[in-house]
Amino acid sequence: MSKHFFDRRAFLKAAGATLAVHPLTAAQAPPPNIVLILCDDLGYGDLGCYGSGIRTPNIDRLASEGTRFTQFYSANPVCSPSRAAWLTGRYPTRVGVPRVLFPQDKGGLDKSEQTIASLLKPRGYHTICIGKWHLGHTSGYLPTSRGFDEYFGIPYSNDMNPRPLMHNTSIIEPEATLETLTARYTEQAVKFIEASGGNPFFLYMPHTFPHIPLASSARFRGKSPLGDYGDVVEEIDWSVGQVMSTLKRRGLDKNTLVLFSSDNGPWYQGSPGLLRGRKGETYEGGVRVPFLARWTGRVRTGKTTRALAGSVDILPTLAHLAGASLPGKPVDGIDIWSLLSGEKESIDREVMLYFDNWNVQCARWKQWKLHFARYNNAAYNPAPPGGRINLPLAKPELYNLEADPNESYDVAAQNPDVVSRIAQRVETLVEGFPEEVRKAFAETKSRQVRPGAAGALPRPV
Ligand code: MG
Repeated sequence: MSKHFFDRRAFLKAAGATLAVHPLTAAQAPPPNIVLILCDDLGYGDLGCYGSGIRTPNIDRLASEGTRFTQFYSANPVCSPSRAAWLTGRYPTRVGVPRVLFPQDKGGLDKSEQTIASLLKPRGYHTICIGKWHLGHTSGYLPTSRGFDEYFGIPYSNDMNPRPLMHNTSIIEPEATLETLTARYTEQAVKFIEASGGNPFFLYMPHTFPHIPLASSARFRGKSPLGDYGDVVEEIDWSVGQVMSTLKRRGLDKNTLVLFSSDNGPWYQGSPGLLRGRKGETYEGGVRVPFLARWTGRVRTGKTTRALAGSVDILPTLAHLAGASLPGKPVDGIDIWSLLSGEKESIDREVMLYFDNWNVQCARWKQWKLHFARYNNAAYNPAPPGGRINLPLAKPELYNLEADPNESYDVAAQNPDVVSRIAQRVETLVEGFPEEVRKAFAETKSRQVRPGAAGALPRPV
């Protein structure tokens, strides 16, 4: 193993040391309120502050009053696994959610896993989940069994049937009216904040949109020059404005950390900006998402950072800020408070893995991204005869994401030592994953592809 990489023990020790040098937040300041707003399938290029023509003034204000990340990653290119990582700080393949969950699925996020909400509860937090859960909808898997005091929303995606609107564990509308959802979620959020009293709270607000089918209220329908998708995103922007104005009206915004992001890249509509790929792909467009953080006087104002960070970092960061214990199991993320506060410009970190289902397909280290496996078919296309197969690339591709964020120019031949270092580290890391990951990794490698042969396509069209 190269000296350039952290081994896991050193990495955890370093993470512990980071926690130890910031006792002030946990011990002396009151724990902050936390608002985490997560969109569904909102692309990297879908906000005004990321270059979109969609009008998002309230969200853009989070950027101008806080910090905007340009290299922030969801841990997976689809909905359920991504949410699993957001809430546990662990790769979804470790926590029982390697793929999207459907209404017929009986399971969900492993019951042995702790969530941000369950960690914050012992610190006196009131917790609520408003929106799309998608981590299991049968007994014991809904938010109220996973650390949330209250739940209001659709338990999975809006394109699935049935589509019930739930309050806690009860169905209050067998078929949710999509047009009213964003407004109703917002109404619930405002009500929750106003009722918070003196207790710290965690408001987790995973919006149903802009996941298709798109629907917005009459007030926004047909108003955006960018069509239905623009209407929906502009209504979410309105919702963010309502949450922020409620925090201000109640005098809470100075002790509230507000985070805004997306679970994965854009699907059939929406824009990944200049990134390659979309939802369901391990190209950057599938997994690099907008991420904004705002906390008056604490998070650096008006800052854009290129620091590498991801959704797995949120649990350890929030645990630090709230003085909460970390889960008993190792987390894959690191505390990024020093990036949010502006104390540091970057943090050395372990190689990041890009999974789709059980398959690890790419790895990121510093500015480098190595692609070494890919499906034989584009995401969401009808599976070819024999099903969709994960194939090793005949020659791994290396991209310098600082110089080439579009992943269009393979520099593996010029950097054989980087290719070798990342590949070796991936081999080591995979050993620490569940059997399904190790098995899928070995099976993929066993599918030999000759250079130039069909199968390892550079990009499905
Ligand atoms: Mg999604």
